[in-house]
Amino acid sequence: MSSNSLRDADIRYVLHPYTNLAAHEAQGPFMAMRGEGIRVFDENGKDYIEGMAGLWCASLGFSEPRLKEAAMRQFDLLPFFHQFSHKSHEPGILLAQKLIEMAPVPMSHVFFANSGSEANDTVVKIVRYMNNALGRPQKKKIISRQRGYHGVTVAAASLTGLPLNHRNFDLPIEGIRHTSCPHYWRYGQEGESEQQFTDRMAAELEEMILAEGPDTVAAFIAEPIMGAGGVVVPPAGYFPKIQAVLKKYDILMVADEVICGFGRTGKAWGSQTFDIQPDILSCAKALSSAYLPISAVMVNERVYEAVKKGSAEIGAFGHGYTYSGHPIAAAVALETLAIYEERQIFDHVANVGPTMQAALRQLETHPLVGNARGIGLIGALELVADKDHKVPFDPALGVGAQVVARAQDEGLILRSMAGDIVAFSPPLIITESEIEEMMARFNRALSAVTASLAV
Ligand code: PLP
Repeated sequence: MSSNSLRDADIRYVLHPYTNLAAHEAQGPFMAMRGEGIRVFDENGKDYIEGMAGLWCASLGFSEPRLKEAAMRQFDLLPFFHQFSHKSHEPGILLAQKLIEMAPVPMSHVFFANSGSEANDTVVKIVRYMNNALGRPQKKKIISRQRGYHGVTVAAASLTGLPLNHRNFDLPIEGIRHTSCPHYWRYGQEGESEQQFTDRMAAELEEMILAEGPDTVAAFIAEPIMGAGGVVVPPAGYFPKIQAVLKKYDILMVADEVICGFGRTGKAWGSQTFDIQPDILSCAKALSSAYLPISAVMVNERVYEAVKKGSAEIGAFGHGYTYSGHPIAAAVALETLAIYEERQIFDHVANVGPTMQAALRQLETHPLVGNARGIGLIGALELVADKDHKVPFDPALGVGAQVVARAQDEGLILRSMAGDIVAFSPPLIITESEIEEMMARFNRALSAVTASLAV
């Protein structure tokens, strides 16, 4: 189909997620036609550095031949089988074993799903089911955080702490609470040190638990670094303090590693970077370098034993997806994990991450940049109207969106989010010189928007 016909058909037939559809009808889609390394190309052959690895996910870039070959081998052998009612298949078994070997803390068993949202919906169900099995049906509430992002299915969207995902959908569901977001730069009080801020976060959590009743709270879920909520990096010491509170009241720690998992922070898991000891861990995205949809939930021995007890005593764990552990997706995930190891991708992130972080920090002298933050190959710039007082821009100006649009003109794909925060999350294979090229394209875009705002 010609690109004009594709454009028309897109407007006519595709209901785009997270999109102002009236504006989309006017402007049409950006169409990626092919990919190579860290770049995608549009219909005119123009190249774009994918500074977000798609949606924080295409970790090995857009042209890894080994992932295609792994998929094709599995297509030939067994394109589909499932995991319900004692059924199994080799890639699903090997992937579960591999994930248990890689886990940041001792884990016991793996449940597969197809997306981060499905994985976190599964977490909600596991938490509810295990407490029914343990004969304490009142202990079911889950505490999440404002600005946390855990997906969009009904339960996962309820865990998510962003108004856009609740407001018009009659969410959250019952039994979900949201505590404060640990964004020190934005929410730290006058004169409050990072340590005092962290103490306040832990004290607020404890107050919430006591107000709810500790015997009603089952779990706490958090991303090591909040992604869609604005790349919020917690202060050092935040998670150990939070976990001390959870331990006191026998509340499970759930790490949502959907973005941080598989090297994004320079270690295999964000849990390792931030000293988190999860009882349950969800992961997706870079598990297959995003080439096929697959996600996983790992549970520790204690959680597994409770689910096992339930399956004998209160009825089988009545949850699972037709495509849980899909063999082709599992084969691609196994190959992805093998490539991470062979090419030492996590060490590569630890090596080149500081180049991206230094370039972002350097921009803190720019008049529009209030705060630069990140670790490894995840980072963000928070743009403000008044740096000294951290005053945000009028949302109607859409400054973050303007910067992202100009970056696209310059051949760089980024995303802006909550409060003019521009995020960076390039493929993990990006090289130092490609980081420099990415930042040069970005700087041109930022300068153009700055000039147009006459700051
Ligand atoms: N959890 C986190 C931390 C995420 O960033 C996302 C998606 O961006 C999800 C869960 C939901 O994943 P999915 O979009 O695959 O459902």
